[in-house]
Amino acid sequence: MRMTEGEAFETFKTIRWVETEGKPICPRCACAAVYSYKARRIFKCKGCNKQFSVTTDTIFASRKMEIRNILAAIAIFVNGAKGHSALQLSRDLDCQYKTAFVLYHKIREALASKETNQKVSGEVEIDGAYFGGYIKPANYKEHRLDRRTRYVQNGKRRVVVIMRERNGRTLPFVFKSEVASISTIEKHVAAGSTIYADDANSWDALHAKYLTKRVNHSVAYSDNGACTNMAESFFSRVRRAEIGIHHHIAGAYLNSYAAEMAWREDNRRVSNGELYLIATNAALTSPVSRQWKGYWQRAV
Ligand SMILES: [Zn+2]
Repeated sequence: MRMTEGEAFETFKTIRWVETEGKPICPRCACAAVYSYKARRIFKCKGCNKQFSVTTDTIFASRKMEIRNILAAIAIFVNGAKGHSALQLSRDLDCQYKTAFVLYHKIREALASKETNQKVSGEVEIDGAYFGGYIKPANYKEHRLDRRTRYVQNGKRRVVVIMRERNGRTLPFVFKSEVASISTIEKHVAAGSTIYADDANSWDALHAKYLTKRVNHSVAYSDNGACTNMAESFFSRVRRAEIGIHHHIAGAYLNSYAAEMAWREDNRRVSNGELYLIATNAALTSPVSRQWKGYWQRAV
């Protein structure tokens, strides 16, 4: 936070253009011959004559916020063990909640974009946990309904299904039910892997394609090496983020939060400073977001 805007600009340049040690390259024609201006922090390509800035064509394009504040936001985001809420960020940076909300979602998208289409292999733990769709019980006991029955539920409940390689990466996906996740699991878990799962019926279909070991949690948490403890510890982190930080994780963005937590879980032993560089680099090498660009100006 002690950085001046000029120093922050130099940091952004070196992170975005790592290969040329911070020398700008035109994002349109990849030309390295570039004019820089004294008065403003922008560049002009000698090849195509177009002007560009350090955030052009990145997830932070069309920003109004100072680079210094964006760097501070990334640092604050990375430092939160259970995540960090947009409301807190808006107070930290003295910006609008809406700005903080979109900024954080852009960082989440950038981090998640490096993870899509990944595969896991070897020993893979699979499990699901349900989020959202809370039904408040009625005040008087006699008015309360059985919230497990379908017609009482509001249809907003979603399940996060996790594929977690033991001592490896974590891939979360969101579905309406665990059964709906089978084809995605088959796509992302390499053939020949061993799958560990609990004894929920949803996972029966996996036996056809993988060596699948099950553990009945009402008997034991770990039975002869069959356990889903790594998967459970991921859910523990998501649950803590939900209860402790965000209070409510809306169904539409559940996948973003799950991906963020997977990133935190996979990088839990990586130092703060390094995480900060990873996150900034991911943001500056991710294209303009289709979902989050102009989010508050969108036609609903
Ligand atoms: Zn150019």
